[in-house]
Amino acid sequence: MDRATVEGVEVDTRHWIGGRRVGAGAGFEDVSPIDGAVIAEVASGGEAEVDHAVAAAQTAFATWSRTSPEERAAVLHRIADGVEKRIEELAQVETRDNGSLLRSHRRGVMPRVATNFRFFADHLLRLHGDLEPADWETRGHRNHVTRDPAGVTAIVTPWNAPLMLATWRIAPALAAGNTVVAKPPEWAPLTASLLADITAEAGLPDGVFNVVQGLGTEAGAPLVADPRVRRISFTGSVPTARRIGAAAAANVTPVSFELGGKSPLLVLDDADVDLAVDLAVEQFDNAGQVCLAAVRILVQEPLAGRFREAFLAKARELMAGQGDPRDGPTTIGPLVAAAHLERVDGFVRRAQADGARVVLGGRPNHELNERTGGFYYEPTVFEDADPTSEIVCREVFGPVLTLQTFGTEEEGIAMANDTEYGLAATLVTGDLERAERVAARLDAGTVWVNCFFVRDLAAPFGGNGHSGIGREGGTWSFDFYCDVKNSVFAPKGWLG
Ligand code: NAD
Repeated sequence: MDRATVEGVEVDTRHWIGGRRVGAGAGFEDVSPIDGAVIAEVASGGEAEVDHAVAAAQTAFATWSRTSPEERAAVLHRIADGVEKRIEELAQVETRDNGSLLRSHRRGVMPRVATNFRFFADHLLRLHGDLEPADWETRGHRNHVTRDPAGVTAIVTPWNAPLMLATWRIAPALAAGNTVVAKPPEWAPLTASLLADITAEAGLPDGVFNVVQGLGTEAGAPLVADPRVRRISFTGSVPTARRIGAAAAANVTPVSFELGGKSPLLVLDDADVDLAVDLAVEQFDNAGQVCLAAVRILVQEPLAGRFREAFLAKARELMAGQGDPRDGPTTIGPLVAAAHLERVDGFVRRAQADGARVVLGGRPNHELNERTGGFYYEPTVFEDADPTSEIVCREVFGPVLTLQTFGTEEEGIAMANDTEYGLAATLVTGDLERAERVAARLDAGTVWVNCFFVRDLAAPFGGNGHSGIGREGGTWSFDFYCDVKNSVFAPKGWLG
């Protein structure tokens, strides 16, 4: 049970603590969504492993926090080199583990993992250079601002893009001089273990990066409740965020939360219909298991008929290409787990009972599931959903979109903003002035105009309302992972 061979790649399934592999008495089964096969038995940690890992991270902090920024940046670049060397292995293992398309992992996701390390290494070195002045004067006194490493950082992440989302937090935390205990998602835990190997090969000192595998309630809960943890970075669902927030409150530990969404795709009547349709179909990417997905499609009435026809035609083509995510032509893969398929199907059943009309899909892909043993769900589109119903208001996190129309621009903005989330919004219009006017009124951490998913790591990222707390990206990340300090020096005369 210490190792698994996944797509020909050897993966150590134990914890990684203090620069050593640590076994566990208990394990959990890791199931591939492609065919329902058990692909690994993974160590299942609890309080003892968390205690061990936090202690190792605390010991390592004493040295890593005083390692020069130049040296820290050099190690991060070597980790990026290691990721780049193993892109194919990482892509193969992650596809088997979470069912996302192999070609996306190869072309986009794994290269981005390397970029996460390179970007924050470079940003660290520019922090007190061209990015921000470190010193300024007040009545002859010199203010000297530093960002000091904060300490042990807990990083808890979900399964939909496990390595990319984890390293988007791990890289800035390490760059800042913090040490990390990561708790990977139990539905896709394997690439975190490969990352541990890569960090060791890159010469990251023992204990600076640790991985405790396990279930959220058993390994995640004691980690976020540990008073030695100085930062908690969590990506996941709102119910889990509430539990983690309560644990953090007890220790007054700062949190950064990136949570769910129910983002709108707002198509105004002057939009390019082809562009709007392409953007709408993109929302089925990763079988809709994307926090940012614009799953509420809102179209202004004069355009609604043309848009609907072209959109449903394209979505049907996508449905025809559903299959094994390792195959080149596949357009849409499986959902991550049988339990998640049940959850998504529950939303669809309840929406139908509430009177919403299915105009595409609306059920598990039974034929494919029976043939393969996997967890495929048909791309699904609803019309005529009540604006206050669950299917319009709650995050499904699957390939389920709602199509609604609106009359005036004012009504469109009101519908777009009418959820408790505020992660992202996508706007399609042919008029720049209108784009700026409407974008300014959308309640979201990121607004995309005539584009989707353009992410610059220097830009702030995060959500409003129930979509999160705080922003990460660029200097915002360092503001969270560091203790920001201002030292005020009296004029020379006073110091003698
Ligand atoms: P989840 O909240 O169920 O689990 C996320 C992580 O938290 C897992 O590693 C889990 O083991 C752990 N966990 C569960 N209970 C815990 C506890 N009591 N204490 C500590 N850790 C605990 O979420 P999920 O189903 O894995 O992921 C899907 C959710 O993540 C969706 O809501 C999605 O929108 C969100 N998400 C957000 C972003 C973003 O950047 N905003 C990105 C991806 C996913």
